[in-house]
Amino acid sequence: AVNMETTLIDESHVSGIIPERCRESSKGNYGRVLIVSGSTGMTGSGCLCAKAALRSGSGLVYLGVPSSLRDIYGTQLVEPIVIPLEDKGKGYLSKESINEIIKEMERMDAAAIGPGVSSRQDISDLMGELIISATIPLVLDADALNAVSKDVGVLRKSKVPVIVTPHPGEMSRLTGISIADIQKDRIKHARDFSGKYNVITVLKGAKTIIATPDGRIYINPTGNPGMSTAGTGDVLTGIITGFLGQGFASEDAAAAGVFLHGLAGDIAAAKKGEYGLIAGDLIDELPHAINKIL
Ligand code: AMP
Ligand code: MG
Repeated sequence: AVNMETTLIDESHVSGIIPERCRESSKGNYGRVLIVSGSTGMTGSGCLCAKAALRSGSGLVYLGVPSSLRDIYGTQLVEPIVIPLEDKGKGYLSKESINEIIKEMERMDAAAIGPGVSSRQDISDLMGELIISATIPLVLDADALNAVSKDVGVLRKSKVPVIVTPHPGEMSRLTGISIADIQKDRIKHARDFSGKYNVITVLKGAKTIIATPDGRIYINPTGNPGMSTAGTGDVLTGIITGFLGQGFASEDAAAAGVFLHGLAGDIAAAKKGEYGLIAGDLIDELPHAINKIL
């Protein structure tokens, strides 16, 4: 039977998820996460995602990128570790990179795949193989979702917990249901998808919905239209992945991530207004959002 429980996420729910940091800790206590991202012209998404993972408390963030683009990341980012992946000099991942990625997963606690990898067919095939072979919890976003849309059955072949983070357009491609129909009953469509494919679905947009495979629903009250701007989804992916890497259960990582991402957006909008808000502002405000709920 489908569990119809619906929870409005609030500060106390999220503060119950985020533990205090242990006084005796080191970076090894807060997870290693891998972000597989990037192609020529699409390097910003991985940068945003990696920074957001760090700002969510991750101990170590590794950014797996097409080898010939590595210097772009090196000049943009200081704290993440860049892992150059085989790209045959072409600026997008080649199919040989799969073995490198699977090998890297052995030392990681969670991974995000998809931001900016492009929706070329060979990349989609690679994403599909990665979903099937992955050995650590995954967040699938952006081009990984475009890949899944071409063969949604790969989700059932995954051996690890999976969180998908579609915006309504991506949800439409995943399900074949029009955006208008999805938006008419967001809870139903998120719940159906989670039940059908055994994933946690984060259906983004105003009042993001989180659905669990057993039918429970979380509704997020934070966020504002200033966040309707490029890159904010990449920031969310980084936050959720960072929390997963710290050992939070998938649904806790998703619920806390979505709430704090929106709260960071609200703090940014209170300072700068909604018009001028950009994705990087959410990363800057994330520490303050976390402080607010602790
Ligand atoms: P993406 O479309 O992948 O870049 O993701 C956009 C992010 O911004 C998602 O987390 C959305 O939930 C959030 N967002 C966009 N517009 C709004 C809005 N009007 N209210 C609240 N959150 C929003
Ligand atoms: Mg996106």
